[in-house]
Amino acid sequence: MGWQFNMPVAVTGGRGCVMRGSARLAALGTRALLVTGRHSAVACGARQDVEAVLSGVNISSLAFDGVEPNPSIETVRTAAEFARRKNVDFIIGIGGGSPLDAAKAVALLATNSLSDEALFSGDWPNPPLPIAAIPTTSGTGSEVTPYAILTDHRLHAKRNLSAQSLFPKVSFCDGAYTDSLPPGITAHTAIDALSHALEGFLSVKATPMSDAVAREALSRIGRDLQSLASFFGQPLPSALRDSLMLGSMQAGIVIAHTGTTALHALGYALTIHRDIDHGRANGLLMPAYLRFVTQAAPERVSEALSVMGYAGIDALEQTLHVLLGSKETLTPEEIRLFAQATASARNLPSTLRVPTASDLEDLYRAMSNG
Ligand code: NAP
Ligand code: ZN
Repeated sequence: MGWQFNMPVAVTGGRGCVMRGSARLAALGTRALLVTGRHSAVACGARQDVEAVLSGVNISSLAFDGVEPNPSIETVRTAAEFARRKNVDFIIGIGGGSPLDAAKAVALLATNSLSDEALFSGDWPNPPLPIAAIPTTSGTGSEVTPYAILTDHRLHAKRNLSAQSLFPKVSFCDGAYTDSLPPGITAHTAIDALSHALEGFLSVKATPMSDAVAREALSRIGRDLQSLASFFGQPLPSALRDSLMLGSMQAGIVIAHTGTTALHALGYALTIHRDIDHGRANGLLMPAYLRFVTQAAPERVSEALSVMGYAGIDALEQTLHVLLGSKETLTPEEIRLFAQATASARNLPSTLRVPTASDLEDLYRAMSNG
């Protein structure tokens, strides 16, 4: 079968890369809107770096700092209205996946008046404003993906915007911005990155090129996860932070080509209905997902585990247990509700073994504590 590889984002990495990036930012426009969460963009120093670089090249900037975790459609509409009123001509997302995804949606809504229906149709009259992305978590890979995941509180669902035009023009991957991440968020986001590499490798959409990047990401993040487990609760070496930043970007390149699979589909209900962090949700479900997929694709699962440095699913589960602590318990009603909500997810058919409605219930049951 034929395949394509397309990575249109100009990515710069390494400590201090934003401070060296003035020319790349200046090429995007003359008046920027910084889209951030409430605290972390300042706490990690990224916003100050961006503002210093912009003022050095006479680019004016404003900030919208109201993006919540799992950003809502309402929040991105408010930010886009602000962007229009202030006549900004490019958007810089600074933060975890939530502000980066919000930045993409703001860039789109700043140039288009769209109903919710039209927003998710992918059929937009005008291109979005140019986007720059500066991750401060090592997890989502949003800095190199064409996706923006928004929470639709009306439908109680996470919904996906996806388009070539939503790829950032430039991204800056500096592990130093993650030095301020607490251990729990560090672990959850690292597990999210691992899920991306793993699901890309176990997707029906995998290609020789996505596999090449996935193997590199699995090997790197697999090694990093074991280091994280051994350091858990203690300060992390800079080299480990930098490696996680690189690995999560690589895993983002994988899902930019393959999308995600049943693991992410299952995880969304845990985030929407139980407020469980996105990466944690993936980690809680990962052993059950692998035991399920291995029945249809044992060689592929065993290759993924071996590239990650694990002898089997049980060994990976032990590391996840150290990082995740005790598991959440789901009630029988929740298991039924979550399985129903997941059955129509668009990424389910990409799974090497597509779960039926009763498989979905079994998978939630297997992840639940008791
Ligand atoms: P996040 O929701 O962006 O952030 C989680 C928390 O971490 C927030 O409280 C945030 O604080 C804090 N934080 C971020 N950076 C920090 C830092 N350097 N130091 C201290 N605290 C920091 O978490 P995320 O896991 O990165 O993103 C999850 C979102 O991304 C979900 O909505 C998920 O669906 C989406 N996602 C997108 C893609 C994609 O391809 N686009 C892929 C996977 C997941 P503040 O609120 O103060 O910033
Ligand atoms: Zn994810």
